[in-house]
Parts: sequence; C-alpha cells; structure tokens
Amino acid sequence: MEKRRSFIKTAGLTAGALVISGWIPGCTANTPDSKSWKEMPLKLRFRPFELKLKHVFTIATNSRTTTPDVQTELEWNGVIGYGEASLPPYLKETQESVMQFLSRVNLASFTNPFLMEDIQDYVDGLSEGDMAAKASFDIALHDLVGKLIGQPWYKMWGLNPEKTPVTSFTIGIDTPEVVRQKVKEAAEFRILKVKLGRDTDKEMVETIRSVTDVPICADANQGWTDRQLALDMCHWLKDKGVVFVEQPLPKTAHDDLAWLTQNSPIPIIGDEGVQSLEDVVPASQIYSGINIKLMKCGGIRAARKMITLARALNMKVMIGCMTETSCAIAAAAQLSPLVDWADLDGNLLISNDIFDGPRVVNGKISLSPNPGIGILPVKN
Ligand code: MG
Repeated sequence: MEKRRSFIKTAGLTAGALVISGWIPGCTANTPDSKSWKEMPLKLRFRPFELKLKHVFTIATNSRTTTPDVQTELEWNGVIGYGEASLPPYLKETQESVMQFLSRVNLASFTNPFLMEDIQDYVDGLSEGDMAAKASFDIALHDLVGKLIGQPWYKMWGLNPEKTPVTSFTIGIDTPEVVRQKVKEAAEFRILKVKLGRDTDKEMVETIRSVTDVPICADANQGWTDRQLALDMCHWLKDKGVVFVEQPLPKTAHDDLAWLTQNSPIPIIGDEGVQSLEDVVPASQIYSGINIKLMKCGGIRAARKMITLARALNMKVMIGCMTETSCAIAAAAQLSPLVDWADLDGNLLISNDIFDGPRVVNGKISLSPNPGIGILPVKN
C-alpha cells in the first residue's frame, strides 16, 4: 500500500509540477488527469503487419514489393503508446522472431511507466540482439510516456523544431524512364538519395541530373569492391553535386574504408557497418559519419546516446529509416533537430500507412505538436 501511495504521489508530481509552474506552455491542454491514474502493470500488445510498397524497391543486393512489420501497443491507464518493428529481409530479424521476443517481455512488476530506464534495462537484457523488436518496445514506451506527460519528446529534450534538417527522398535503382518519373514525384524534396552499387551507377546519376539540379546523397549499400574505383567515383560524384556517400565498400573492409574516408572529397558515412552504440567508437576510425536507424540500434534511447557519442568524436550524423509506417518515422523525427541529414522517407514509400505523423513541408520535416512521438492512428 505504501508503495502504491508513493508511486501515485511521484507520478502525480511529475506531471503536475510541469503544469502548475507553467514551465511548458500548453501542457495543461494535453495532459491527462494524473489524479485518476491507478497502479497497474503496463500492457503490451503486438500484431504482424505487411507494408505494401508503392514501387518495386531495388537496391544493390535485392528487390521487393512488401516489407514484413510488427505493430506494437503499450497501454497504461487507458493511454496507448504505439511502436513498430520494420523487418527488411536483409536483416536477421523476422516477424516471428520479433513476436517471440515480445512474448517474453513480462511487465507484471512494472506499474510505473515513468521508470523508463529500469523498464528498458530489463527489456534490453532479455537478449543480445533483437534490435528491431526492442525498438518497437522503446518507441511505444516513449509514445506512452510522452502522452502521459502531455508533450512531444523533441520539446522535452529542448530541441528547436525549426532546426529539423531537410530530408531526402530515395530513388531506387530502375530504368531511366521510371527514375525520371520518381524524381518528378519527389519535386518537393530539396535533397534526393540515390541507390548505387551496380554497373549502371553513372547512368542513374546522369538520369537524375537530366531532370533536376537538387543535391544528391548516394548510398552504395556495400556494392563497390575496389577502393581506387570507389575513390574515382567519389570525385566524379562530387562533380555531379553529390554531398556524401553511404557505405561505399563492404562493411568488413575496414582498412579500405578508412583509406577512402581519408582521401575522399566528400564524407563517407557508415550504415551497414554501424549498427548500435558499441560500433560508434570503432566507426570513428573508419568513417566521416554514421547513419543511425532505430531498427538497428534498438530505439530512441540508444539513438540519442549514439548521437551524443558521435558528436563527441567529431563525426557527422544522419538519421535514417527502413520502409516503415509514420510510427517509426515519427519516432526518429523527434531526434532530427540533432542531426546533419535526415533520410526519413520510409512512410512515403508505402501505400498502406496506418498513422498520421510528421509531414514534409518544403523539403523539411515538420514536427507535430502532438504529445509522445506525435502520431495519430488513421481510421480505415
Ligand atoms: Mg544505407
């Protein structure tokens, strides 16, 4: 009983203090009535979902028309936080492995969602990997707690929503005709991302340049193998207005990547070679910067730590995504004022989004003022 009283007091004070003191304008309007909160365990639900892609999506290593996905919900006192695991086939996780992991999460002893560090330490400790599964939990917990407090996370972190970077729109490998069409569809974007790593690389870039002058970022997805040819390509790409290259060489080619980073006229960004927090320090010896994705690193909590560490190591930071609904995109977008480049177009590549989330306005991410990660379910 004493435990319960002290918990209710703590939770009430946490939200109440923000409202009464007026530290956060507008908090009252969004804050649920904390006085009516009851002590109860967090409830976790999850279900498989299939993302349908608008176009056949081709990168250096595969093509596909759908992406497996798992949608999660965390509920406490009638408030629901949403999360998501996106599972492109080149990653090890599957819908089955994510649901297996989530079914092992026992929240019976967790009755205070504000103890996020304790809850996440427990979930992260359940296995070594399962990063997308952990991300789906992390996102739902952030959404839930943000909604209970009544504020979006970017605001609680003190970030300026005007400082979101321009976000890129990805043009997959395709015929020149389709590439031109895709570029026209992306007219609102102020930076495009092109997938390279095949023998048609120069043709792809020239095709884009035949219809637009906007800056391009390139992603070779480990598709090049020779470091001198990669360096020659970096010089050629710079002349074509390409601002950086992601994962030009295989992720295990550390020495060649480090050599390329030292000699390249444009930044070399690690993506496949940089999965989670422990990869950041080694990556600082190999790459100019890192591409952080929530599905790789385990969610918002880990991504924030990676950004802080990468900045301390004087590295560039981009935040990317998989094909995802606006749920995981919105979660990553909360962090976007902290990064140099955002590549958060995954929700725009699917035809069956089930959330309304951040918009792209004049090429920039426009963060929602809604609490949590700022999404609303779309009623079908
Ligand atoms: Mg990439």
